Amino acid sequence: MNKAQQKAYAKFERLSKTKISKTLSKDCEAESLMIDIKRGRLILNSFYEAITPETCPQCHGGCCRNPESYWEEKDILYLTLQNSLSKVPEPAAKLTDKCGWLTEIGCTLRRELRPLTCIEYDCHKIISEAAKQLGVDPEIMWQMVDEVKRNLNIKYNDLLHRNYILLIEEREEQAMNHAREML
Ligand code: SF4
Ligand code: SF4
Repeated sequence: MNKAQQKAYAKFERLSKTKISKTLSKDCEAESLMIDIKRGRLILNSFYEAITPETCPQCHGGCCRNPESYWEEKDILYLTLQNSLSKVPEPAAKLTDKCGWLTEIGCTLRRELRPLTCIEYDCHKIISEAAKQLGVDPEIMWQMVDEVKRNLNIKYNDLLHRNYILLIEEREEQAMNHAREML
């Protein structure tokens, strides 16, 4: 890896150390949120996959310019609960001024592994092309896609919040146990 790729991967590795509650994977609320997240991602992925072959090849990753990529804590939670964190490959890009996972033939990350920001990018070209193909008003197309994105973001944030709550509960339990031992 060159320096730019190391930088891109360092952010992912740093976030990979996000503290995750031991009980999150068995938690009913988190399980239900994951079902909603997977459904939302599936809808967006199917939508973008149908349109991107028309719009993206000429653009050469115009939206993938962040050299540190778009990873966030919530992406790590999602991938961990999917048992997919270890499936994220090291960056392989030659275009070092952009995201490390971007190559001349597109992103090397499978769609189901990409950060949320990557799968919900507000691209005017995509919305216009989708509206054209489906014969609907672009404004209505925006509203439909926005609705899916808004719900998806709420679920991701709820998952993040649920993890914090469980971590706090775990810490309190540990403190109680410690106090009991001291008695
Ligand atoms: S999603 Fe939009 S900005 Fe990104 S590569 Fe495709 S057309 Fe370009
Ligand atoms: S879609 Fe792929 S190449 Fe583009 S920013 Fe996201 S991870 Fe990087």
